[in-house]
Amino acid sequence: MKTPITVAYGDGIGPEIMTATLRILDASGGQLELERIEIGESVYKKGLSNGIEPSSWDSLRRTKVFLKAPITTPQGGGFKSLNVTVRKTLAMYANVRPCASLYPYVATKHPRMDLVIVRENEEDVYGGIEHRQTNQVAQCLKLISRPGSERIVRYAFEYARANKRKKVTCFTKDNIMKLTDGLFHRTFDEIATEYPDIEHEHWIVDIGAAKMADTPEAFDVLVMPNLYGDVLSDVAAQITGSVGLAGSANIGDHCSMFEAIHGSAPRRAGQNLANPSGLLHGAILMLVHIGQSDAAERVHNAWLRTIEDGVHTYDIYKEGTSSEKVGTSEFADAVIARLGKKPEHLKPVEYAKGVHMDLAIRPAPAAATKARAGVDLFIDRPDGNPDVIASEMQRFGVEGTRLTTISNRGTKVWPNGNPDTYWSDHWSCRFESDGVPFTADRVVALLDAANRAGFDVIKTEGLYTFDSERGYSLAQGE
Ligand code: NAD
Repeated sequence: MKTPITVAYGDGIGPEIMTATLRILDASGGQLELERIEIGESVYKKGLSNGIEPSSWDSLRRTKVFLKAPITTPQGGGFKSLNVTVRKTLAMYANVRPCASLYPYVATKHPRMDLVIVRENEEDVYGGIEHRQTNQVAQCLKLISRPGSERIVRYAFEYARANKRKKVTCFTKDNIMKLTDGLFHRTFDEIATEYPDIEHEHWIVDIGAAKMADTPEAFDVLVMPNLYGDVLSDVAAQITGSVGLAGSANIGDHCSMFEAIHGSAPRRAGQNLANPSGLLHGAILMLVHIGQSDAAERVHNAWLRTIEDGVHTYDIYKEGTSSEKVGTSEFADAVIARLGKKPEHLKPVEYAKGVHMDLAIRPAPAAATKARAGVDLFIDRPDGNPDVIASEMQRFGVEGTRLTTISNRGTKVWPNGNPDTYWSDHWSCRFESDGVPFTADRVVALLDAANRAGFDVIKTEGLYTFDSERGYSLAQGE
């Protein structure tokens, strides 16, 4: 039984590395039925701003598996990232990137590195919800959801179990972002209890990242919110010795996409120079995903043997270590010639057969009781003074409300501000309940009063408690 997959040859070096990869897959016994779609430059040039033909979505919906070569994103405005479009449209929530060093065959400072980064792929600041609110200040909204965190964390633990990995580490910055990163961390701790066979730990992302860059062998599977994962998965790939060797999987419930992590390298295109290993790694992840672990194992071990035998493309070729400098096509021939062989020095891979990853979404916990406790009015006031703003606002006279703090970019400046704090034109003025329920009417009345007093209110943010627990941050200094 052949598995239908959608393939796109992409731009630049894309067609060469895709041809090489598909030749290896074919020779490996992989049972694939290919559906080809066009993406990238040629489609952008037709005036389609996201680089994909509308009809291609039908193929992706049908096959649910996408092997994609890199594309060239045109310069200038008006073009949307194809990757982001595909990931978000098809809800590919997990980005999985294995990073293992190939010492001594590929030079690296980290001979024992073998880790996998599982990056949340849909949330965090990647909603790209941004607003410029004053002359001096712009904001970007960071959104972390409980279901989004649960899915990615569960994926990381299930991945660890399926791949016989021993530990899952979570990176967040919840000492500062107690509600967003705090939610991710809490969800991690909670889900971890369902996997007593797997060790778990949490690091604050700054020191965790430093440790990973210095001693990557201390980590096994890492799970983290989108932005940290974006940055650190590139760092991890680079310190194995070459970003050119890594592949990645974008996993969703409806469709999953597999690719190399590098771009289309236009300067290398059409010269039979490019290393197909990154895309081949994406394809190996794909074979495992569609249940063809035998073929995945054969390809991966033949590839390790090729690297070990010193048959290298120009990007990893090194006098003394390498034995033969080859082009894209000859590299594919060398891998094909080694199918069925295992590496002699590097550790051979073994992919578990028929492992089921239990990714079912669990019923949501009972919803907490939500109550409004106040409102933050954000105002634009150049050359403002917090004492003056406070005295004007204290005259609003909206019954049952009380101005409690004013902050500037998160730092309290009233009451009892520090004269050394810098004041931008962006102020947050917090009104809380004065002993009675803080109804929506009071928010409207405050907005009306602020408007009549000449304040430029740029946004409001509701303050809520959930089961009596505060659901909003305090200003620094409060
Ligand atoms: P790039 O990854 O294409 O190239 C960076 C460097 O790595 C270049 O020196 C290149 O020659 C080398 N390189 C990359 N892949 C190689 C390979 N397989 N073998 C040998 N050498 C390789 O990054 P870039 O130059 O910044 O971007 C080029 C284009 O790729 C841009 O249009 C960018 O938007 C696009 N891009 C696409 C994707 C994608 O489709 N997923 C990802 C990143 C960049």
